[in-house]
Amino acid sequence: MNVLVLNSGSSSLKFQLIATDLEHIKKNEDRRLCRGVIERIGGEAIITASIGTRPRTVFTAPIADLAGALDFLVRWMASEQSGITEIQSATDIHAVGHRVVHGGEMFSESAVITDEVLKGIEDCIDLAPLHNPNNIKCIQAARKMFGSKVPQVAVFDTAFHHSIPEKAYLYAVPYHLYRRHHIRRYGFHGTSHRYVAFRYRFLNNLTREQTHVITLHLGNGCSAAAIHKGYPVDTSMGMTPLEGLVMGTRSGDVDPAIVNLIATKEGLSTHEVEALLNTQSGLLGISGLTNDMRVLEQELKEHEDRRVRVAIEVFCYRAKKYIGAYLACMGGADAVVFTGGIGENSPDIRQRICEGLDWFGLKLDGKKNEEAIGKEERISTDDSKLHAYVIPTDEELLIARDTVRCVLGEPHPS
Ligand code: ADP
Repeated sequence: MNVLVLNSGSSSLKFQLIATDLEHIKKNEDRRLCRGVIERIGGEAIITASIGTRPRTVFTAPIADLAGALDFLVRWMASEQSGITEIQSATDIHAVGHRVVHGGEMFSESAVITDEVLKGIEDCIDLAPLHNPNNIKCIQAARKMFGSKVPQVAVFDTAFHHSIPEKAYLYAVPYHLYRRHHIRRYGFHGTSHRYVAFRYRFLNNLTREQTHVITLHLGNGCSAAAIHKGYPVDTSMGMTPLEGLVMGTRSGDVDPAIVNLIATKEGLSTHEVEALLNTQSGLLGISGLTNDMRVLEQELKEHEDRRVRVAIEVFCYRAKKYIGAYLACMGGADAVVFTGGIGENSPDIRQRICEGLDWFGLKLDGKKNEEAIGKEERISTDDSKLHAYVIPTDEELLIARDTVRCVLGEPHPS
């Protein structure tokens, strides 16, 4: 089955084309035919694509909106120019998997998109006003383009966190706010946490029941999840992705009282302060330089910039604090799993986060940590009580697999 995986933003469309079916999923032999992104939709868009293992190509085309982007993408995939031999026309795409940001309390797992499911995604717009509308537009465009014969599946960023108990998801604010407005913690990055937890148990030949890990997704957005018996019991992002760890441009946890204080002192509206916490804070805000950890690490090495050092220290301290908290909540765990652009690629950040965790029995193997860049690896010593792993995430693969499983009516084993 050729599955087109779509991740739509306000002016971008990330895509992957993955050939897989139940047999290939079982053997871990899914084939990635193509991946890429269309950026700056609404003007002269930039298309970046890689086909198989060939070097990526970059080109531009005028694209007005998401529907136009999808139309362009499918025509390009089917053209000789793309070189994707498996796709001769739109009919060679057999199913579409959509990343949908918010599934609210309604969706605890991926779902074939029916009118009812689409209505459910619309009902969650209030919870993710910046994201769900784009996902809906993309679903509608795909329906129009492929017709009703090509099944579409929604894979929710929030779904994996459905197992989180009330004591972890409720904010200690008047209960009627939860009842009236669904104000609670939901958590995000669920597909990533679920994928790396699955890989962890696969690598160690464990059952879901035996899977007790803390997963740290450290990318531009960052979140932690406490996974007990294979399911999350807590996660760091909340009602929105702003809560929790320090991120590229997001503050993570702050005292809510500073919102009004900043508004008053800086002459901003509370909306503007929220935007500041989302887009001008985190690593960027503290360093005053960039949200890119690679640049920060380089800068620290070359110039010993004080604010860069503090930004990195705050980032790592917060992550360490969450590990400690989750170990307490879970009554211990077997491993900490690093993933996301930073988690997969930065031995220095992993080392800083793990420093001092020997108290919990985590002993990092320095050499293994240095060598584990972008690949699956255990980076703790054999005699560690609490292990550490690097496991690259692959949300698109999990979306493609869920799409196949949902279309064929198979239960989700991972
Ligand atoms: P997103 O959360 O948007 O999916 P990614 O998971 O791709 O982002 O992570 C992007 C971030 O990963 C970049 O901003 C960069 O800071 C970081 N990163 C990527 N490679 C490295 C590296 N080699 N060393 C340190 N940080 C890295």
